[in-house]
Amino acid sequence: MREAIRNRLGALAAILLFVQPVVVRAEADAAVPRSALPQSLDRGAVVLSFDDRNFDDWLKALPLMAKYGARATFFVSGNIDGQTLDAVRQLHSHGHAIGAHGIHHLRAVEYSQQRSVDEYLQNEVLPQVEQLKVAGITPTAFAYPNSRNNEATDAALLKVFRHLRTGCSVAAGEQVSGKHALFVPADQVSSRGCLCGKGIDFAPERADRTYEQIDGALTRAAQNREVLVLYAHGIASSGKGNHITPEALERVLWKTKELGLAFYTFDQLP
Ligand SMILES: [Zn+2]
Repeated sequence: MREAIRNRLGALAAILLFVQPVVVRAEADAAVPRSALPQSLDRGAVVLSFDDRNFDDWLKALPLMAKYGARATFFVSGNIDGQTLDAVRQLHSHGHAIGAHGIHHLRAVEYSQQRSVDEYLQNEVLPQVEQLKVAGITPTAFAYPNSRNNEATDAALLKVFRHLRTGCSVAAGEQVSGKHALFVPADQVSSRGCLCGKGIDFAPERADRTYEQIDGALTRAAQNREVLVLYAHGIASSGKGNHITPEALERVLWKTKELGLAFYTFDQLP
């Protein structure tokens, strides 16, 4: 009897070995599973991210990103179908990661208090995950609309995603480099589900995002081997909405490279 089971297991193993290359190919377009990533990062890094639906800006900025070897994560809000799916595929094919940002860009804390965390997940989050899967993309991260998160939303969403992104504001007169919540030691990223990002829209015009502030934060990350998450929205020379100019973005990319920091997407974080 045991012999028969052993034979059968042997045959099963042979089948699994035989089909393995197919399985690997099928997963090639999907997100890299945590098990396939290094257990911890060993250098300081910038995790650059852009939110909402600024596809024209983002596609136009691809050459600028490529010039500095920068890879970013684009957190898309709304339905991801039709033309959106084409844009997302294009960004993804250039090595950038795609994250979820909610179907209606609703605040997770308020929504889950009025209804439930589960309904937030079912109505706002999971439909985007399914839509991205149509494009062969498995998102590993979610960015909270308006940076509204709490322990309950984090716990629920971390069952779906490896990392979440919220935002941490820096008070007037405060140094970004002194805001410890923004800096995660590279070797501890895998134990931090929710990461706190620093907004850089309108850099260098605002006090918390002058080049001096940004340089200080990047220098700290390089010296301490820490990971710093940055986020913006559009990439444009002018306009009313939240955006960073191509000039300011290039300044950030250049400084990141000069300091020897790595660029990681959320998909590359263990
Ligand atoms: Zn947003």
